[in-house]
Amino acid sequence: MKQSLRFETLAIHAGQEPDPATGAVMTPIYQTSTYKQSAVGEHRGFEYSRTGNPTRKALEDALAALEAGQAGFAFASGMAASDAVIHLLRPGDHILAVSDLYGGTYRIFEQVYRQYGLEFDYAKGTDPDELLEKVRPNTRMIWLESPTNPLLRIVDIKTIADEVGSERSRPWIVVDNTFATPYLQQPLQLGADIVVHSTTKYLGGHSDVLGGAVVVKNDELAGRLAFLQNAIGAVPGPMDCFLVLRGIKTLPVRMDRHARNAERIVQFLLEHPTVDSVFYPFSDQHPQRALAMQQMRNGGGMVSFIPKGGEEVARKIAEQTKIFTLAESLGGVESLIEIPARMTHVSTAGSGFEVDPALVRLSVGLESELDLLEDLKQALG
Ligand SMILES: *Cc1c(COP(=O)(O)O)cnc(C)c1O
Repeated sequence: MKQSLRFETLAIHAGQEPDPATGAVMTPIYQTSTYKQSAVGEHRGFEYSRTGNPTRKALEDALAALEAGQAGFAFASGMAASDAVIHLLRPGDHILAVSDLYGGTYRIFEQVYRQYGLEFDYAKGTDPDELLEKVRPNTRMIWLESPTNPLLRIVDIKTIADEVGSERSRPWIVVDNTFATPYLQQPLQLGADIVVHSTTKYLGGHSDVLGGAVVVKNDELAGRLAFLQNAIGAVPGPMDCFLVLRGIKTLPVRMDRHARNAERIVQFLLEHPTVDSVFYPFSDQHPQRALAMQQMRNGGGMVSFIPKGGEEVARKIAEQTKIFTLAESLGGVESLIEIPARMTHVSTAGSGFEVDPALVRLSVGLESELDLLEDLKQALG
């Protein structure tokens, strides 16, 4: 697929030629674990489905095209994708990460990999100099998220990549691009080396599948990740790959609508007398609005806010909405509400990076914005 095609076209066609065997326009679900060989060691590119599967290959090629990378790798979950990336390191290596990290990433760093001899440090990602001061001689990865979760802070990926420089020995810049999606920002174009995703969220888009992805932009990393993906084996099944591929086709349309609904809700919350503060990358109040507008195509679908009255009030709001479903996760067509300190971010307890227990996080879906506004109005009322 020509890289010069525009994003919306790639989202529908990249990696997805009509099936050469039958002409099927949609990628078939190749529900097979193995492939007939015509002679010993002679096959048509597929030997065993942990190593490769045609449905997964279509998804991986689509992911690589959307992130403007060289190679994509699909995994059984976002955590499996991050796990494969961490496996690039060895004992004694150091990862420097942004402090308001996805809770599960913090947990795998601290509760899984620290005991294997990896070292971790955290810094606020909003000030590149403050972050880079913590780089050590053994720092092999700088792990970024932008916007961050759940405070929706913006990390200046390009400035960090520029300052880290281009020597071969410099740390790899890893960006978890789950919140923004490649439609809003393409970290590899900004200088990152590795992009990870939970495709469970916006890429899948319908809350009906779990998946993860890694996209890289050079041959060396592609080779090592292909090895790790096959050696560790946390691969998705063909049905799950099909669902993510189907979700990706509408990603641009969905993201535009998520952002439009989110902007209306932000406006409503900013004007509401019982709301203390609102967090949204493109809102006038956001301290990094200019950077967000430079780095992202729109502000996305995630909104956080703190009501006046603290934790109790926040809980009541989360339990009183009717259209916003009280649930973890994000990025689906349906709107969700949650209290990160008690739900998605429990594993950060004791870290020093705990989330304000009164913070409410919204994943704004694609329902009518009027219904969403009425729902919030009654819950805040
Ligand atoms: C959900 C999520 C993950 C983990 O993905 P799973 O698919 O749940 O394993 C990683 N990073 C971010 C930013 C996420 O939102």
